[in-house]
Amino acid sequence: MAELFEVQCGGCGLTATVSGGRDRGFLCWSDTMYCESCGTLSDVLVKYANDPTHPESSPTPGESLEFGQCRSCGSKQLVLWRFGDPCPCCKGSIKKTGELCILAD
Ligand SMILES: [Zn+2]
Ligand SMILES: [Zn+2]
Repeated sequence: MAELFEVQCGGCGLTATVSGGRDRGFLCWSDTMYCESCGTLSDVLVKYANDPTHPESSPTPGESLEFGQCRSCGSKQLVLWRFGDPCPCCKGSIKKTGELCILAD
């Protein structure tokens, strides 16, 4: 189960729905990162959860997953972000505006 939170920056109005830290999904670990290229906050896949030493053993044949890349634009200009950190865009404070429990996987 993945827990996601809706967050909003009081300074620049940036909004996102993210886990706010390292999260383990069925296939992969993700980390919440800010993309400097397109200015979005999102959970970025960082590695496979089941077998990090054999990244080629994807449980979904034919599907290649991109790690360490922005899901929106594919950029690797990413900055790690956790709950409690200031807004990576304007250094304002980011607050939770909602909480979602998602039965992913
Ligand atoms: Zn901001
Ligand atoms: Zn991006």
